[in-house]
Amino acid sequence: MVQEKGTISINTENIFPIIKKFLYSDNEIFLRELVSNAVDATQKVKRLGSLGHYNKELGELKIKVAADATAKTITISDNGIGMTAEEIKKYINQVAFSGATEFMEKFKEAKDANEIIGRFGLGFYSAFMVADKVEIQTLSYQDGAEPARWTCDGSTSFEITEGSRTERGTDVILYINDESKEFLEEHRISGILNKYAKFLPVPVQFGTRQESVPDGEDPEGKPQYKSIEVDNIINTTVPIWTKAPTDLKEEDYLDFYRELYPFSEEPLFWIHLNVDYPFNLTGVLYFPKLKNDFEIQKNKIKLFSRQVFITDEVKDIVPEFLLLLHGVIDSPDIPLNVSRSFLQADSNVKKINSYISRKVAEKLQELFKKDRKVYEEKWNDIGLFVKYGALSDEKFYEKAKDFLLLTNTANEHFTLEEYSAKVKDFQTDKNGQLVYLYTIDAEHQHSYVQAANKKNFDVLVMNSPIDTHFIHHLEMKLEKTALKRVDADVLDKLIEKVDAVKHTLTEEETTKLKTVFEKAINNTNMKVEVESLPAEALPVTITIEEWMRRMKDMSKLGGGMNFYGNMPDTYKVAVNANHKVVTKILQAEETQQTALAKQAFDLALLAQGMLKGADLTAFVERSVEVL
Ligand code: ADP
Repeated sequence: MVQEKGTISINTENIFPIIKKFLYSDNEIFLRELVSNAVDATQKVKRLGSLGHYNKELGELKIKVAADATAKTITISDNGIGMTAEEIKKYINQVAFSGATEFMEKFKEAKDANEIIGRFGLGFYSAFMVADKVEIQTLSYQDGAEPARWTCDGSTSFEITEGSRTERGTDVILYINDESKEFLEEHRISGILNKYAKFLPVPVQFGTRQESVPDGEDPEGKPQYKSIEVDNIINTTVPIWTKAPTDLKEEDYLDFYRELYPFSEEPLFWIHLNVDYPFNLTGVLYFPKLKNDFEIQKNKIKLFSRQVFITDEVKDIVPEFLLLLHGVIDSPDIPLNVSRSFLQADSNVKKINSYISRKVAEKLQELFKKDRKVYEEKWNDIGLFVKYGALSDEKFYEKAKDFLLLTNTANEHFTLEEYSAKVKDFQTDKNGQLVYLYTIDAEHQHSYVQAANKKNFDVLVMNSPIDTHFIHHLEMKLEKTALKRVDADVLDKLIEKVDAVKHTLTEEETTKLKTVFEKAINNTNMKVEVESLPAEALPVTITIEEWMRRMKDMSKLGGGMNFYGNMPDTYKVAVNANHKVVTKILQAEETQQTALAKQAFDLALLAQGMLKGADLTAFVERSVEVL
């Protein structure tokens, strides 16, 4: 018996074909929307119960999803609040947006289904993305309510008749269209449910599974088992972010992490986020072990809204450098259904952004203060992340400068303040500028490091991919401080002192030396200079100028300055005028000079790790002969 026929009030145009067509790529979210509605309905009835407005048995609140391949239907059932026919008319028939004209205008800019569905309150109607016909069978919780049935074939006309449901709640039955047959497959449905519904607060059941249970003993006393069929519940993992931090143990956080990222190593530590003013946000963010390969680890934060999974594309909500973290954030205050540009301008999103960044800084600060030793041990893993944060977020840098560590070649760690105090005495040059020396590879540049250490200079290790930028950043931030790579020049030039040693060679001798070495080296990319170095330094030192190397590094990293990237490496060859060997070369027979100079130069190459191939072989042979 038809009780009522009518037209869904969305003005005259029929938007369903548009919804269907346009949202095709994202159409799996129909299930998220319908299951969310079912969750809401069960939570409403629970609340009514607790407020004393509903006094019958609540029963076990549960949502069931079932697919029938023969009938080509998917049914989403709940034992929630249900609807009366009047409520269907009010909530379902009046699509909550001002009109089809607005819709038609707006949908053109929309980039995905989320945008449209949320903006126009079309959650329920997303069913038409996959169904030709949708039916609702529902019975309201209210005393004496009559069951109602609603059907709609995707046109604007609907039908309300008497329903057949005998228990409180709602079934939404989708008659899946031919193009959407994939959604009738079990693995597809369980895939979608696992993605969106894993942490919902009400059990969501999809199908059944076999479980082995004890079944007495056999005559010999051996325990027996039998297989029984049990409901397959999707959301068995507790969403720990909804709990109070005081109710959670370390193991709970680790278990949850393993659940989320089964193939990842244990996290280093985590932060529990929990605010309700001026915006609502909960979540747990984990610091993973980074190991320098940060690119591949991005996009590991999952965004939820009231425990419904929304996306793992959080780059507009979380500060860029925090994308390296793992975990979940849940906020109903993030406008999910708007375009990216709107999102970035949203004031809540901005506040959330700085809140998360502040929390992370506080956590690091706390760890640093609480147990410096442990913090230092973890620095290898978190250093990259802290530097990245310091580079990209001014406010974060302001906090981080207290717990940002510099590491030297002896593997000692210092805060910025400590380090400046440590090296001040020896490494201030004649202009009052503090010079920090660094190496990118202490092993490889051992002779330089050792020479520096002999002069009481300290050498930092800067070997992570971010350090090129970080060095530059430090120079901008630290007052009167320059960073120079330990092989950028001879030490006396890197840190120039007033009382620099002078050499006693005449101008003629200097020119002579230069010519001898140029001839012996025979390479225009090697610029020979005669320098006054301490007598105990090496006779010859090869260096590459700091600025030139930085330009090259930058262009390697895609800084656009390809001009430098393509230039050949030019080196400075510093000949130590104060060294015995050099004096010897100067005094040697002309025939001997070249050979000696060549040998001294090769030694320098050797120290720099630059002596290779045929040159190395020749050097070894020559050395053997000398012996
Ligand atoms: P929204 O959920 O954003 O309000 P929907 O189009 O998804 O928009 O749903 C419209 C309304 O229909 C809901 O607010 C609710 O009142 C009602 N409704 C939808 N599904 C159910 C259900 N399973 N049980 C009870 N009421 C429902």
